[in-house]
Amino acid sequence: AGGQDGEVQKAQQAAEARKEPGQRPPTIFSKIIDRTIRADILYEDDKCLAFRDVAPQAPVHFLVIPKRPIPRLSHAAAGDTELLGHLLVVASQTAKVEGLEDGYRVVINDGKQGAQSVYHLHLHVLGGRQMGWPPG
Ligand code: 5GP
Repeated sequence: AGGQDGEVQKAQQAAEARKEPGQRPPTIFSKIIDRTIRADILYEDDKCLAFRDVAPQAPVHFLVIPKRPIPRLSHAAAGDTELLGHLLVVASQTAKVEGLEDGYRVVINDGKQGAQSVYHLHLHVLGGRQMGWPPG
């Protein structure tokens, strides 16, 4: 059953990747929030969720998402200030729990040129290896 779920997730990811920038939620992340699809959840509260990325780009790679589906950072408004701050604090606290005491990188991809593929705002937290700069 796990393999089948994997195939379904891959197909859903491919569909996400084909979407035009500016696509609105619901996305695959809404399904992770409502538990329609499985994820390795590291932290949850009433405002946000942190879970491991299905295609990790570092030994530790997790995402922090708001439960309210803001499609992308460039759609964030002044009223989102507290929520965005909360996502950063949860990223920091979860990184600590994950043992990233030597540092880590936080990334938000926005839109086409930012290489965003899922249009539900998310912070990537990557760690456990030396990062390079500039990023690709
Ligand atoms: P973006 O390119 O939009 O910044 O990042 C989207 C991230 O979501 C990618 O790193 C991708 O691996 C991850 N992702 C896409 N679909 C799923 C999924 O179904 N489950 C999990 N855990 N991560 C996913």
